[in-house]
Amino acid sequence: MQRYDVLIVGGGHGGAHAAVALRQGGFTGSIAIVSAEPELPYERPLLSKDYLAGDKAFDRLLLRPEAFWAERSMTIILGRTVVAVDPQARAVTLEDGEALGYGKLVWAAGGAPRRLTCAGYDLQGVHAVRTRADVDRMMAELPDVEQVVVIGGGYIGLEAAAVLTKLGKRVVLLEALDRVLARVAGEALSRFYESEHRAHGVDLRLGARVDCLEGDGQRVTGVRLADGEIVPAQMVVVGIGIEPSVAPLLAAGAEGGNGVAVDGLCRTSLLDVLAIGDCALHANRYADGAWIRLESVQNANDHAAVAAAAILGGEDAYDAAPWFWSNQYDLKLQTVGLSTGHDQAVLRGDPATRSFSVIYLREGRVVALDCVNAVKDYVQGRKLVVDGARIEPAELANSLIPLKQMGVAVA
Ligand code: FAD
Repeated sequence: MQRYDVLIVGGGHGGAHAAVALRQGGFTGSIAIVSAEPELPYERPLLSKDYLAGDKAFDRLLLRPEAFWAERSMTIILGRTVVAVDPQARAVTLEDGEALGYGKLVWAAGGAPRRLTCAGYDLQGVHAVRTRADVDRMMAELPDVEQVVVIGGGYIGLEAAAVLTKLGKRVVLLEALDRVLARVAGEALSRFYESEHRAHGVDLRLGARVDCLEGDGQRVTGVRLADGEIVPAQMVVVGIGIEPSVAPLLAAGAEGGNGVAVDGLCRTSLLDVLAIGDCALHANRYADGAWIRLESVQNANDHAAVAAAAILGGEDAYDAAPWFWSNQYDLKLQTVGLSTGHDQAVLRGDPATRSFSVIYLREGRVVALDCVNAVKDYVQGRKLVVDGARIEPAELANSLIPLKQMGVAVA
């Protein structure tokens, strides 16, 4: 059995960054990354942006050039899936039965797209947007597609809708709730994005319940709504979230549920097994200490840095401020902090100018910012979030006063 000092499961943002951070931190032991996708680590966010738009070839998405990994003596095992973990034997099993041993195991397996459960969910022409293979399949079909139904008004659904519209497709976007981005943003931001999508020609429907997908026996032909209407479609894009890929770890006895639970050093309850990124359930101070999973490049990279440092003997716990971005049309949204649980939202600037921010407060403290084409607010507002600053809403709303000039007194 081949054994590695550090075995990383998952070659996405977290897995790749953990390997890089280990070498940068002076780790000289053997490192291997085993990943289910056949690709070298790449920038996943670009899948629903520049890559789907055809603006960037895949090789420009690679996180590092191919030679980088071998030059740093890292073994990359692609297209292989870990199906079991044996913490006593310090070994994992791959789908073909091969076992790999480890000194430390870093679980960075991300998540798999949640599927529809209704009839027709598996028809041809129904797509998720998670991997390069998903997007390549979509792109191959697009020339024969006139109308796409996007199910889900989260970031991925909205980004896909924006790109598909730009590519000249008619797009119908179905959101089950009464506003888009309901899980991650306040109402002002939701309403702004709804009107932008409609202005770009997207037929955006709120409170739209999917009954089932219609097909001709093979391919999808439409989406039947709960009220009986059938929306025709030659392609359906499903963006309704992910399920964390943690089954082998939970089966091995790791604590968790919606993800695998980790402490501040990204350690799971299993000896010498760490977990990072989308699949890691952690207590986050920006969520008031609640146990959450974050699905962002920031979180994957910062977790990776903490895990690598912990393997090298460090004791600095994860405490990074969450940040995220989304590109739709010519709008660049940048967010910092977590708005979940806010009790006040302050509008700074005028959405009609397409450059504004929403600042979220909880019990008088700034907890998050959503900045649309407002880089200065994003850069300067970050400190307010980190400090949990108490600032009068009227002052925050005054866009003539730069955020960096605002007091940061913390009671
Ligand atoms: P992943 O990047 O998902 O990597 C996990 C890897 O592990 C995958 O390659 C998977 O195949 C592999 N794997 C899973 N199970 C196994 C197994 N059992 N054995 C072996 N390998 C396994 N974030 C942002 O911050 N900004 C954005 O704009 C943004 N846009 C996005 C757009 C899209 C279309 C998507 C899908 C995501 C986007 N995200 C964005 C989220 C971001 O990409 C993720 O948060 C990030 O990739 C998480 O990194 P990770 O390493 O935890 O998981």
